[in-house]
Amino acid sequence: MAPESVQSLLLFASDHPVWAVVITVLSLFVLRSLLKKLLKQKITNFPRKFPDDREKRTKEGFYDVAVVGAGPAGSTLGYYLAKAGRNCLLLEKKKFPRDKYCGDAVCKTAIEILMDMGIYEKLIKENKARIADAGGLCSPGGLSYIGRSKEILGEVPAALACKRWWLDEAIAMAAKRAGAHLMENSGVRDAVFDAKAGLWTVYLEDSDKSYKARILVCADGAPSKLATKLGIVKRPPDGSCSRAYVESGTHKFKADGCIFYHRDMLPGYSALFRHPNNELNYCVYLIPGNPKVTNDDLPYWHNFLMKQDPNISKSLGPGAKLERMKAASLRLGGEPVSHGDHVLVVGDAAGMIDPMTGEGIHHAMEAGKMAAKFLDEAMHHGNYDKDVMKLYHEAWMDKFGSDFKWSFAICQLLYRFPILLDAATAAIARKGDKFLAAWADIMTGRVPKIHLLRPEFVIVITFELVSLIIKRAFGIEKKREKKLE
Ligand SMILES: Cc1cc2nc3c(=O)[nH]c(=O)nc-3n(C[C@H](O)[C@H](O)[C@H](O)COP(=O)(O)OP(=O)(O)OC[C@H]3O[C@@H](n4cnc5c(N)ncnc54)[C@H](O)[C@@H]3O)c2cc1C
Repeated sequence: MAPESVQSLLLFASDHPVWAVVITVLSLFVLRSLLKKLLKQKITNFPRKFPDDREKRTKEGFYDVAVVGAGPAGSTLGYYLAKAGRNCLLLEKKKFPRDKYCGDAVCKTAIEILMDMGIYEKLIKENKARIADAGGLCSPGGLSYIGRSKEILGEVPAALACKRWWLDEAIAMAAKRAGAHLMENSGVRDAVFDAKAGLWTVYLEDSDKSYKARILVCADGAPSKLATKLGIVKRPPDGSCSRAYVESGTHKFKADGCIFYHRDMLPGYSALFRHPNNELNYCVYLIPGNPKVTNDDLPYWHNFLMKQDPNISKSLGPGAKLERMKAASLRLGGEPVSHGDHVLVVGDAAGMIDPMTGEGIHHAMEAGKMAAKFLDEAMHHGNYDKDVMKLYHEAWMDKFGSDFKWSFAICQLLYRFPILLDAATAAIARKGDKFLAAWADIMTGRVPKIHLLRPEFVIVITFELVSLIIKRAFGIEKKREKKLE
């Protein structure tokens, strides 16, 4: 750089120190992303180690991939691997159809994959799934908005209510039809890697049976027992969630779905979601970040909210008949490592649940599809070393995993300043259904959380925030609600 340019830059920096800092930070950020892209490894940078796998596989009788767990992650992976012509063993502990404690909210990204697999139409036609049209939220300060999404979103709805009894069976059977070797009632107790042969041996529970595979995928859900045993995952799940079905005809809920925030339980929340037969799903999500709420408090919050929260108790009505509370753990925010030599971890087992929502079906399916594409490529190339498998970890981190750190930060903000949720709800109520749809895209990870800093969100939410602060200071706040007729 010419000395005059350096001099004029220094002059600019001394005249405008704030701008100089902003420009330097932005330049460093751009430089870092460019360097990251330039230095990114590709599969082809690694030496080929297993060139004749297909022939060897037939002779020696092993699978390309053994997937442990046929939930949304494992079955989606099995489906796309089989479609790519790969020899995939899908081992599932239970027999389908089987229950899985869940809020049963299947969001847009998952719906698109269900459409691609040819399952969506069938679930709707057979009345096993219901499109959630009228939905919204109720803020900690009691502001609420219920909007409609069908007209705005067109072909792909924002969310679908589908019991896991039906959903998981449909995905697993699609994988089987595509050619994956699905084995039900086949819980896996252990997996041992022979580094010399480059093969895993997978052992079944209560049986002497074992199977060999070139690659192992752990997709056994939030407890992540297998990946923990193998030393890949090193922490227990962090959140928890309850579920209780509410009998059809016994409740007063009019919308298709609604999220309820209670000031003392933030950043957790509860939800009601309507099934095709008019049954409801009542869920309470305990999300880490509130020192006064622990996972042991789940039964308390489950019972307290349905009886004492004015909005939930009104929606349920005095005669609501609920099943006994069921509960399961949530592994939130993404595991720092989801790979090893010849092994991947996918779905809840790798913590692919958004800490802001506690939802993970869509990430499990998205990651399953990504892992299938990645493994197909790796098999073409013939190298499954840890450094190669790391490319899958980086891929899902780039797609949605790195956004989880923003979710954790936003959770902290909401816990400390619940008024932000009131302001966001007021903004949604002011701007209407399009704004709600854009908000839902951010909440479900279709759009990065950083988009909340865009002017279309910042301006309107800040306006509502200031106006709420003023109204509360003068005691003139009116509850703004939009109810279903
Ligand atoms: C109460 C609750 C409510 C939730 N609500 C929602 C919601 O509304 N929307 C949403 O998107 N997400 C929700 N989630 C999260 C969602 O359930 C998970 O993100 C999703 O199930 C992840 O899919 P998965 O395939 O990774 O794991 P799972 O669905 O847990 O599937 C794992 C599979 O592995 C099998 N398995 C386990 N161990 C073995 C073994 N040793 N051998 C063989 N098979 C084994 C299991 O039987 C199971 O079929 C909720 C979670 C909870 C707990």
